[in-house]
Amino acid sequence: MRHALLLSLLVLLLGLGTLVVHATGGTRYAYPYLMLIPVLLAAAGYGLSGALVAALIAGGLMAAMPLDVSTQQAQPVYNWLIRLGLYLVIGGVAGSLFSLLRRAHATSERLARTDPRTGLCNQIALDEALGQRLAAGRGAPLGIGLILVRLSDIGELLATLGPETADGLVRAMGERLRRQDRRIVEVYRFSNAELYLLLEGVESAETERVVHRLAEAGEENLVVQEIPLRAQLVMGSSWQASEATTAGELIRQSRVAMLTAMEKHRLHCHYSPEQENDKREALRLVSRVRQDLERGRFELHFQPKLRLADGRVSGCEGLIRWRDERAQLIAPGRFMPRVESTTLIAPLTRFVADQACRFIQGTEGVVSINLSVRNLSDEALLDELLGLIRHHGIVPQRLEVEITESALMADLKSGCQALEYLRGHGIRVSIDDFGTGFSSFEYLQYLPITGLKIDRAFVRELGGDARSLCLVACMIDMGHALGLEVTAEGVETLEQHRALRRLGCDQAQGFLYAKALAAPEYLTWQRAHRPAAWLDSVDQTH
Ligand code: C2E
Ligand code: CA
Ligand code: CA
Repeated sequence: MRHALLLSLLVLLLGLGTLVVHATGGTRYAYPYLMLIPVLLAAAGYGLSGALVAALIAGGLMAAMPLDVSTQQAQPVYNWLIRLGLYLVIGGVAGSLFSLLRRAHATSERLARTDPRTGLCNQIALDEALGQRLAAGRGAPLGIGLILVRLSDIGELLATLGPETADGLVRAMGERLRRQDRRIVEVYRFSNAELYLLLEGVESAETERVVHRLAEAGEENLVVQEIPLRAQLVMGSSWQASEATTAGELIRQSRVAMLTAMEKHRLHCHYSPEQENDKREALRLVSRVRQDLERGRFELHFQPKLRLADGRVSGCEGLIRWRDERAQLIAPGRFMPRVESTTLIAPLTRFVADQACRFIQGTEGVVSINLSVRNLSDEALLDELLGLIRHHGIVPQRLEVEITESALMADLKSGCQALEYLRGHGIRVSIDDFGTGFSSFEYLQYLPITGLKIDRAFVRELGGDARSLCLVACMIDMGHALGLEVTAEGVETLEQHRALRRLGCDQAQGFLYAKALAAPEYLTWQRAHRPAAWLDSVDQTH
């Protein structure tokens, strides 16, 4: 269309120029220079070749024109030859310049869409390609899929092997993933550690199948600069669910899915609107933590722990609760994972510690609180914890901190230092969710801990499964061999309670005895508690 228009304009200008020269009396006057207009236009539109063709035509038209129309006097040959030469030189120079400009423009356009470090396409190219393909696909069966691949350990690689190797790995991984399925049309580098794969002609389920193939391919080592490397991938995929889906939405949805996969420690998640609702809710909740702490909307509830040997209450675990505007309780699972990754965890833990210390004053036994990774490297907070103990005048041995195995492993060095610091001041330390952190037992020998809490995943299977019984027995024996107090979490049935008693577990905690209760209800429950009832139950089995 643009081409036809330009061509018609050129013909028109050449014709008009010829007419003007003829009407003004021939080539004797300066009007033949008007023919330079179409020559320059052809140079702009078609570059050097177009300019030369236009110059030849213009020169030819002017050669056929008489010097003086009224007398029909012909031009001398040198006259039109010089003019033709002039047209060719001016057209040639202009055409070359325009060709150069066009090439430079094309190069800068390409560079703007290329990641300079890997040569892969970049974010701008992805936005464009997605926008174009979605627009072109309107009315056709849906079929655009997007997979976000994150190389989660790239930071470590960057620090140890440098940016060239890290970039080399990203490029090699991008090329390898692209080869896994012919429907992957392009690979785009989004950030240091992220690649987007654009798929065409796929259905939703197929997108997921492609992801599985990618996961397998990602398992194999890549050799970069003669170093064999393995990258840990996390993936999120999204699929064009309707004709109204925009490029921005697809990109965001695959990110939501990838973040969900990271949170759930999974290799891959496919986008669903619920993931987004969860994230929105968590974001909304997190924005209100500080103000609700000041408004007193948080509470610490207490779940009792029973000493299995005599059925007595040995203490309790403080668990955070949040009341929303309608006074409904919000469980920590809905906000803690996000709060834990922010600096808000400090004021929240301060509140928890303060509540726990106050509660210790009015009750018996050990009260434990949960600490997060960030708390362990927050020296000021640890000092405040000790200050609270002094302020409330309580014996440090009556406070226990629970820290999960995975939180400890996240930063073993500062975790270890923090625990040593707390232990040095008499505070008890327990490993929470023991057995779920996939870590070796090596750390147990040098960690200054006093207890282990067997995760409820193991306790759940007790009673039915012989292997679980064996596992739990081993954990209890190992704990005892290391001089630790062993607590079983999530005890829900009498059968589990009896099995734990038989295995010699020290303490148990779970819905079978009581849920986490607000302080006054806890005290009421404690008063009504009959230790002997929990001994009878075990006798029945013999
Ligand atoms: P956790 O430390 O493992 O706490 C035990 C969780 O298991 C509690 O959930 C408790 O209500 C629940 N539970 C206890 N007995 C049973 C049972 O018999 N069956 C089942 N199915 N569940 C049982 P909750 O209160 O929802 O807390 C969830 C997690 O949130 C906690 O897991 C802990 O990691 C975190 N959390 C709670 N309060 C705090 C806090 O004050 N600070 C920090 N950093 N984390 C906290
Ligand atoms: Ca705990
Ligand atoms: Ca636990």
